[in-house]
This record gives sequence, C-alpha cells and structure tokens, in this order.
Amino acid sequence: MVNCLFCKIANKEIDSKIVYETENVMVFKDIDPKAPVHFLAIPKFHISSILEIEQLDKNILKELFKAIAKVAKDYNLEKGFRVVTNTGRDAGQSVDHLHFHVLGKRKFNWPPG
Ligand code: AMP
Ligand code: ZN
Repeated sequence: MVNCLFCKIANKEIDSKIVYETENVMVFKDIDPKAPVHFLAIPKFHISSILEIEQLDKNILKELFKAIAKVAKDYNLEKGFRVVTNTGRDAGQSVDHLHFHVLGKRKFNWPPG
C-alpha cells in the first residue's frame, strides 16, 4: 500500500527496531512506548484494521498470534501483558495498517481508559 507507514516498515523502506520477523509478519518496538515493553505486531500484508480481517489469510493470522506469543515468552511477559488493537478514531487508531500493541512489564488498569 503506497504511503502506508507500516507497509514501509514491513518493506524496510523505513527503519524500525525489529524484535521478531517471519516471511509474513513482523514485531518491532513502538517509537513512543507506553510501557517498559511496547511492541507492535503486524502482518506484512496490508489491511487497514480488524474490520478487514476476512482479507487476511488465516495462516498469516495464526502466524501473527504465534509471533505475539513468542515475543511474550522471549521477553518474559508471562506474569501479565496486554494485546490491544485500536480500531477507528474514537479508539485512538492513528496508523491505518492492522497492528496489535503488545504491552508488558507494568500493571495495567481494567477497564482501560
Ligand atoms: P495506534 O495509535 O493504535 O494506531 O498505534 C500506532 C502506534 O504506532 C503508536 O503507538 C505510535 O507510537 C507508533 N508509531 C508511529 N510511528 C512509528 C514508527 N516509525 N516506528 C514505530 N512505531 C511507530
Ligand atoms: Zn500498510
């Protein structure tokens, strides 16, 4: 997708701090972390949000969640971590490429703000 920030990160046209990567998915550090651990997990294939999930191959979706589980284990987040996908303006989505925030190493409130 032309002019999509996370497509450019996936294609390595823009640098990021990659934590884990496969052919179809990437996990990288959020540039403005909201917790001591704050990663973003994305499919390299562009979809705007979870609302377009039917366009994503189910194997890639599984690969994405396996990547999240892997980094959670690799970074010792078993005690508690949060996976969030903000969808739409009211939820605070600022990049229109599906991404899951992976946040850890602090306490989180419930319900979220
Ligand atoms: P959201 O606001 O839920 O759409 O999340 C977008 C996230 O992308 C925010 O947490 C930003 O800090 C993060 N972000 C924006 N630009 C970059 C970048 N170049 N590299 C890494 N993370 C970024
Ligand atoms: Zn994209």
